[in-house]
Amino acid sequence: MFRSPIRFCRVCATAVEYRVPDDGDTRVRAVCPSCGTIHYENPLNVVGTVAYWGPQGGQVLLCRRNIEPRWGKWTLPAGFLELGETTEQGAVRETQEEAGAEIALEGLFTLLNVARAGQVHIYYRARLLSDRFAPGHETLEARLFHEHEIPWDDLAFRTVQETLRHYFEDRRRGHFGVHTGDITW
Ligand code: ZN
Repeated sequence: MFRSPIRFCRVCATAVEYRVPDDGDTRVRAVCPSCGTIHYENPLNVVGTVAYWGPQGGQVLLCRRNIEPRWGKWTLPAGFLELGETTEQGAVRETQEEAGAEIALEGLFTLLNVARAGQVHIYYRARLLSDRFAPGHETLEARLFHEHEIPWDDLAFRTVQETLRHYFEDRRRGHFGVHTGDITW
């Protein structure tokens, strides 16, 4: 899941060297031997929503992936945050792009570290304004699921599984909190 290694300087296109920079850094980085640019790499943010519908939010929106990885598996609408975008804007955009769903964003719901993949996944609760969807090209199918219909064995990502588990637990308790955690399994 890690990104491909950097091979060339993003400033001057010289082949980079992997070494610890001389400025007191302690990590190996891609350093340009020509212009000295140090290419820092940091985790990516994945943003998405648990969009609900029906009495007491009894149904949630899932999308069946039409892209790799995990083609054909079910996911909450989510994707990489873009530069210049807030996490809220990214979550709304991904939900519109993948499901064609109109939503009203509610609170932050889960923040899950996937350190081995170099990612942080952030999900917001969202109220669906309609139960009519128009899936984009990255989605085979978008539909609502009651808890007993959730395809637990066919979910695309652990963070989706964790977020759905918290959603239905909180719903039973009658109170939605904010959940943080680390995906290590
Ligand atoms: Zn360079």
